[in-house]
Amino acid sequence: MEKSWKTIIEPFRIKTVEPLGFTTEAEREAILREACYNVFAIPADKVLIDFLTDSGTGAMSAEQWAAIMRGDESYAGARSFFVFEKAVRALTGYRYILPVHQGRAAERILMGVTCGPGKTVLSNSHFDTTRANVEASGAAALDLPVPEALDFDVSGLFKGDMDVRALESKVREIGPEHIPMVIMTLTNNSLGGQPVSMRNLREVSQVCRNYRIPLILDVARFAENAFFIKLREPGYASRSAADIAREIFSHAQGCMMSAKKDALVNIGGFLALNDPEWVARCREALILTEGFPTYGGLAGRDLEAMAQGLVEVLDEQYLAYRLRSVEYLGDGLRRLGVPIVEPPGGHAVYINAKKFLPHIPPSGYPGQALVCELYRAAGIRSVEIGSLMFGRRQDGAFVPAPMELVRLAIPRRVYTQSHIDFVIEVFADIARRAPTLRALRLLESPSRLAHFTAKLMPEPV
Ligand SMILES: *Cc1c(COP(=O)(O)O)cnc(C)c1O
Repeated sequence: MEKSWKTIIEPFRIKTVEPLGFTTEAEREAILREACYNVFAIPADKVLIDFLTDSGTGAMSAEQWAAIMRGDESYAGARSFFVFEKAVRALTGYRYILPVHQGRAAERILMGVTCGPGKTVLSNSHFDTTRANVEASGAAALDLPVPEALDFDVSGLFKGDMDVRALESKVREIGPEHIPMVIMTLTNNSLGGQPVSMRNLREVSQVCRNYRIPLILDVARFAENAFFIKLREPGYASRSAADIAREIFSHAQGCMMSAKKDALVNIGGFLALNDPEWVARCREALILTEGFPTYGGLAGRDLEAMAQGLVEVLDEQYLAYRLRSVEYLGDGLRRLGVPIVEPPGGHAVYINAKKFLPHIPPSGYPGQALVCELYRAAGIRSVEIGSLMFGRRQDGAFVPAPMELVRLAIPRRVYTQSHIDFVIEVFADIARRAPTLRALRLLESPSRLAHFTAKLMPEPV
């Protein structure tokens, strides 16, 4: 019997390095003022540890860089397209594969040809660009997460699941003819990167079949979801992640993917479908705005890198390390008494700023106050998911978001455990000073997607 070791290590060694952006506290204070307390306005080389997003920020492997050199840049019928098509077909089993430049392009194309006024799309939770594209078509987007998904303090195995009973009753209420598709997002990004169970997917798929509604998967993080199933769901411990992934795809009729996550690339995406009528219309839309169907707005080399990334991401050494490294950060913060959304997700740890900074009301943006302090204290960049992102003004009155969170999203294969230990040390320091953190005041914000460009300033002491 092979001895098994407890410590899960980074399953790679480093071949190319990029220096981090060290700054002094005084420099960071000036940079924050200059950026009007909005970390989107900070130049990346002034950031020490960048947890803004896990999207397109991962490191590629030597094999991916080698594949990039093999890229065929022919306009039509490039060899790289067939390499890519074969890889996506082998993984998903779907017949028609359309490359796109990133996830939201797949959303816009699919929603454009299938949705429209009077229609409703149901989901465990729409990611924000998915929702925006459903709504831009004139359709409505309705989230039906399981109730425990909204309780941040209680841990659960599959808090990404959909409420199947709510699904069935909504389908009856709305009428299946008004529902162009049901979307399952794996993992559930909007609600903490929580996984969906195979059992839930099977049940949702059964309801969809009963009412003849296509089930489409949003699979930005399918591999992380597959490994959570292996670790947590009875009956899957001895199945390979690749095998579990193939079963996931078998329960649906198609998928959209942002390859910037689990295809381990910096740009790319695809739409994969079985229905020839949908595909014909999607292909037309694709040519109109993305490009010829064998490149879809990407270079041939990007297709090669995606094909290779889709294989590498299912390596179980990689997935064990990936989920463990996120959990490791969660464990460290929990030990300090920092309130996090339980359990840590597959790609990020979320801090409950409402509980961490109870002296700052939602109108003082407690999440953003923590985001700014993480940068000021140590150059760590994170993102607020709270009233700055989702709060509104209605008849002059402030309407807060339902939650005040800070997301620490971990790029793939980029940071090591000592970087994470450093972040935990910074949190220990901030936790001691938490009651002295100051509220922020919003000076200026556009009406849509305000958090990208909003300007703020600290309230006077
Ligand atoms: C990132 C993401 C998208 C959008 O993809 P982009 O590549 O950013 O356009 C869609 N759905 C989910 C779940 C995502 O995480």
